[in-house]
Amino acid sequence: MDHEKILAIAAHPDDLEFRCAGSAALWNREGRHVEYVVCTSGEKGFGGNGGPSLSNEERWAIRESEQRAAAEVVGVRAVHFLRHPDGELANTPALRRDLVRIMRKVKPGLIISDDPAKDAYDSFYGYHSDHRAVAQAAFDALYPAVGNANFFPELIEEGLEPFSPKEAFFGGRGILDTWFDIAETFDLKMKALACHKSQIDDIEELIPRMREWAKTTGEAGGIECAEGFRSLEVPQ
Ligand SMILES: [Zn+2]
Repeated sequence: MDHEKILAIAAHPDDLEFRCAGSAALWNREGRHVEYVVCTSGEKGFGGNGGPSLSNEERWAIRESEQRAAAEVVGVRAVHFLRHPDGELANTPALRRDLVRIMRKVKPGLIISDDPAKDAYDSFYGYHSDHRAVAQAAFDALYPAVGNANFFPELIEEGLEPFSPKEAFFGGRGILDTWFDIAETFDLKMKALACHKSQIDDIEELIPRMREWAKTTGEAGGIECAEGFRSLEVPQ
């Protein structure tokens, strides 16, 4: 891993804790700079019965503060919230522009996102429509939009010149080819996950399942406790 700056993109607060918080903690220890982008602020994630009677603003406040706390645990430097509507995320020009704007501002060498590959639909969580949408939008923002001045000329007026990250790590669905040993940061990942109190009742119950998942993830890479991705070079 030779990227100094990493930008990880997800649909909802807590997605990045599941996907890459162990790696983020590792990279932070190595002196790398990690930032998060969270496309919705998770206002619908309050239980199947609608949850407590709170306004969207109150729900955003809860979930964004949980996300900020989780990011802080693993040393993430900033979290950007786009506040697109939860459950209605779509691969629109507006979402792609928001992603291009942040990529051009942060100038990361590496982008982490959901994987638009493989359509197995073998998990309702994994194939949540917001995850499918962010996977497509991040892929499309990476090429050709972010490096091409003809896309979103209004961003040039904001002073944001074309810039291309070098590589993308897609997580969650595709065939993995890149692994990070998170044995030493697994506890921090759990501590970060536990910050999402509105979503996770019992972290102790979740920990063994997360350890098992980290083991399954690492199997093909020969690592006991891992997070894994599918890597792809971004055309320059
Ligand atoms: Zn999610």
